[in-house]
Amino acid sequence: MHKSIDCGSLRKTHLSQDVILAGWVHRRRDHGNIIFLDLRDRSGLIQVVFDPKSAPQAHNIAESVRNEWVLKIKGVVSNRPEGTVNPDMPTGDVEILANDIEIMSRSKTPPFYINEESDVDESIRLRYRYMDLRRPFMQEILVLRHKVVKFIRDFLDNYDFIEIETPILIKSTPEGARDYIVPSRVHPGMFYALPQSPQQLKQLLMASGFEKYFQIARCFRDEDLRADRQPEHTQLDLEMSFVHRDDVLSLIEELMINLVESIIPDKKINKPFPKITYHESMDRYGTDKPDLRFGLEIIDITKCFITSEFQVFQKVIEDGGVVQGIVVPGQGNMSRKKLDKLVEKARQLGAQGLVWIGLPEELASEDYDLENIRSSISKYITQEELKKVVLATKSSANDLLLIVSGEKKLTQTVLGQLRNSLALSLELVDQNQLEFAFIIDFPLFEPGDNEGQWTAAHHAFTMPKEGQAAKLETDPGSVIADSYDLVCNGLEIASGSIRVHDRELQERILKVLGYNLEQINERFGQLLESFDYGAPPHGGIAPGIDRLVMVLAGLDSIRDTIAFPKTQSAVDPLFGSPGPVEDIHLDELKIRVLDSE
Ligand code: ASP
Repeated sequence: MHKSIDCGSLRKTHLSQDVILAGWVHRRRDHGNIIFLDLRDRSGLIQVVFDPKSAPQAHNIAESVRNEWVLKIKGVVSNRPEGTVNPDMPTGDVEILANDIEIMSRSKTPPFYINEESDVDESIRLRYRYMDLRRPFMQEILVLRHKVVKFIRDFLDNYDFIEIETPILIKSTPEGARDYIVPSRVHPGMFYALPQSPQQLKQLLMASGFEKYFQIARCFRDEDLRADRQPEHTQLDLEMSFVHRDDVLSLIEELMINLVESIIPDKKINKPFPKITYHESMDRYGTDKPDLRFGLEIIDITKCFITSEFQVFQKVIEDGGVVQGIVVPGQGNMSRKKLDKLVEKARQLGAQGLVWIGLPEELASEDYDLENIRSSISKYITQEELKKVVLATKSSANDLLLIVSGEKKLTQTVLGQLRNSLALSLELVDQNQLEFAFIIDFPLFEPGDNEGQWTAAHHAFTMPKEGQAAKLETDPGSVIADSYDLVCNGLEIASGSIRVHDRELQERILKVLGYNLEQINERFGQLLESFDYGAPPHGGIAPGIDRLVMVLAGLDSIRDTIAFPKTQSAVDPLFGSPGPVEDIHLDELKIRVLDSE
């Protein structure tokens, strides 16, 4: 080794020892004659002192070094002089009195500061990712990621799971996105598809008798990228035979709790994880990924306005819509400016408007006098209706009521989003809290783009809940699936389901999804055939590792959890990919690229 000890590990216990260090110049300060360098390696920083009196040659060289140069330094561990101890640095009690220095590599002036947590444009960070990754906070994230994956592997190994790799060059494995395809040179005109997930492969492994499988698997999905998506992501792919839903859920719950408690013990985690049905989640939070760190639940108050003279509500109720609201405690006095912003936001989200009612600071139980109340609809509602609303929403003095009316799903979604943004702006969220929940019993199908078309809400291999299969052909929209998501702090962390393991049922589901028998055999023949040779009942789940690390580390961007991520437009600025290939490659593949103009 070029070094005898790590920079960040030096303590008072090493006093008077001769050490050899190697690392990057994090910061350099010239104090008159004496030069101070903070030397950085992965373990942390140590202050090194060059004194022209005791080591003139080393001091001379130290004068020339700049940030990010790589040095090898020999010296003695010493106490820092009184008054210069730095309690903010783990190595802050000591320093190295250097007697020798060797320059191992020089650096140009870095494109951004490595030694400050300054806001650097992400395109520059990604272009110079190897330098961005030197920054201590990025190193911490990747160390955390390593620990998470290692914990998962050890945990599952303890439960008799085995890790099995599955191919990357495969055939279409639909998960609701487009496939990335790879042309075959050996079979011109033929293509592999990269797996959107190892879904069919893990099911085949169950048919192969492995019973408990997992894999830290790369999944490729060509979709329009949203903030927390990447063209390739990593998931803990997991499958078990002879299980019911709750066997899978308890295992994942135990894994998450143990993982958090051992790796980030400072975070608070709720337990047990509640199970909330999809419909209940939509009703209470307006989303299937509820953030449960705060209340502000949606309350249906349609009943309060059944006989209302207020035309807007009247019309909505006549059309089969709903009137729903959330109570924001203590905000009865919210400024008009902020309220107008909320109204604007609701409109942007698709609502016709947003009604607000600010209750006064004193509210005797019978005192629902409209005179005392600030509201955008005080002219249109009656005292009686107001009373009903206050009772139905259990609101009290100084509360703010926000009400949206319209088609049910839209109303819920708007209120759900308002709920999240209010929690942020009113700082209702404890950043140290992890609130997990399982969302269960999703619909099996969602309406597709065209009338009468259905797509799989989870994926095509999901088992309908007991008793539900009878409605597959007659009322597909109402079929409930034996599927589940794990959510945390408003993000989806995992999806899974109990699977179909019977050819006939699988074919019926695929037909509802619009596949004809020929397509079924061509795309899913391998899986269906395995059902003909004795397939066990099975189910599984797949937590996204990038997303999980993002939540555990409290980050806003999934890209910070990945060493070499792509930008939002699926580009890698460091390698400059995607890029053109030489004609000779295209000729071998018998591919001609059309002008994109
Ligand atoms: N294959 C699914 C996915 O990638 C997960 C699962 O059902 O296990 O979302």
